[in-house]
Amino acid sequence: MVSGHFLAENLTARAVNNQVEWMHASQDEAHGTAASRRRASLLLVFVALSALGLSGCEPSPASQALAAQQREAAAAAETGTPELITRAAATLPDPDAARVTEPGPGDPAPRATGIESIPRSDSSGAPSFGPGTPTASAATEDEAGGLTLLGQTIPAGMAQRLTWSASQIFEGVSSEAPVLVVNGRGEGPTLCLTAAIHGDELNGIEMVRRVLHDLDPEKMHGAIIGIPIVNLQGFRRGSRYLPDRRDLNRYFPGNPTGSSAARIAHSLFDGIIRHCDALVDLHTGSFFRTNLPQLRADLRYAQIKELTLGFGGIAVLHSEAARGTLRRAATDAGIPAITLEAGEPLRLQSGNVSQGVTGIFSLLDMLGIVNRVQLLAAPEPVYYQSTWVRADNGGILFSVVRLGQSIAVGDVLGTVTDPITNEQNLIYSPAKGRILGMALNQVVQPGFAAFRIGIETEGPPTESLETNLALASKKRTLGDGNVSATQTDSSSPTVIDQDSEEPSE
Ligand SMILES: [Zn+2]
Repeated sequence: MVSGHFLAENLTARAVNNQVEWMHASQDEAHGTAASRRRASLLLVFVALSALGLSGCEPSPASQALAAQQREAAAAAETGTPELITRAAATLPDPDAARVTEPGPGDPAPRATGIESIPRSDSSGAPSFGPGTPTASAATEDEAGGLTLLGQTIPAGMAQRLTWSASQIFEGVSSEAPVLVVNGRGEGPTLCLTAAIHGDELNGIEMVRRVLHDLDPEKMHGAIIGIPIVNLQGFRRGSRYLPDRRDLNRYFPGNPTGSSAARIAHSLFDGIIRHCDALVDLHTGSFFRTNLPQLRADLRYAQIKELTLGFGGIAVLHSEAARGTLRRAATDAGIPAITLEAGEPLRLQSGNVSQGVTGIFSLLDMLGIVNRVQLLAAPEPVYYQSTWVRADNGGILFSVVRLGQSIAVGDVLGTVTDPITNEQNLIYSPAKGRILGMALNQVVQPGFAAFRIGIETEGPPTESLETNLALASKKRTLGDGNVSATQTDSSSPTVIDQDSEEPSE
């Protein structure tokens, strides 16, 4: 039995040696071939893994056909013909239409200050991001394998800490977010990790720390860019939002002459995100809600599906990202992107963090960036649909289900009790599925989104994702301590919203 990873790396190496362009070779020439090679590597890893199966087992007839297509692509690569490569990658929008690797003369260049360059002197252990002495030559060198970001070039085999400053508020009160970059010795794709776009979502910050400080650039093929706290101003105030109450994750890819949020989004997107070959955006539930660790991904795109497979055993919720989110903007720019949701805001949850870190390292291994053998958790189902179940009455919400629990139609999910009249209403599940997200126990208003149910279906809906499921809402009135008092059917069924209704990622 042949290892899928070995073959994938082999094919990648062949592609790199032949300097295959991923798409539209001519437009990349001005910006060097390193980025192109990274994209070629990423693509071919995807294709090879698709063809061979992630487990490296005997290929199915379908995957044999894909393997034949891959051999054709590799042969075309050797003769310098990029058509097959282009065709294989055509499932994402053309990235070169929007991708720029260097700021144009008219673009406001993101400010990069306080660069710290720490050469690797030992051959093992975690990278050191600082503090260190700036390397004067780093900014001008463009040696082989160098990664240029925020106006600085990080040589191959180096870990550096940059700072990204989205905007100058006024002198002395700027907001400079650290950017951790580990550029591997070998060629490969660049994966970006972004956390705390919502400033109160802490689990992702810790995930970025654990991943970025546990890498050895000498043994890496490709690069990892980690931004632990994108929304530094929100983070300092313990707030999801920017100081003007705008949600940064509704303004991507941004606008250099727009609102404050649009400018920050533009600076991040043009300065950093466009350099990524793949993106994982880290989030948690919002507003006293918690999420089962899960990926949000637009599974209509083959490359994005591959990213979810690379994560190993974790629930995946298919969702077309809302316009303005970083995930959506990256996808529109041709960069495969997924969101990892895990846990609650304003908390650091060790179990959630550990699961996220394990998934990210699994993905890094699949992409060929690191080679770290780890046991993959059992695969989890993909949920192609989800619904929010809302409370129809105000009162005190207590859940009777737990996160991740499988539920059937009609199961009681929770109770909402009026603290004055003692009237209690039950919230029932309208669907068979699994609790992917839920509210913490709290006082709720009518219409409050209390439970998010992931629903397994055959595959992505071919048409609209809109669904309206009727909720059989039942009410019961409590007597004096008599919990099993009368229950009556509600006359009006509740409409359940599609997942994009409630703010999360
Ligand atoms: Zn979020």
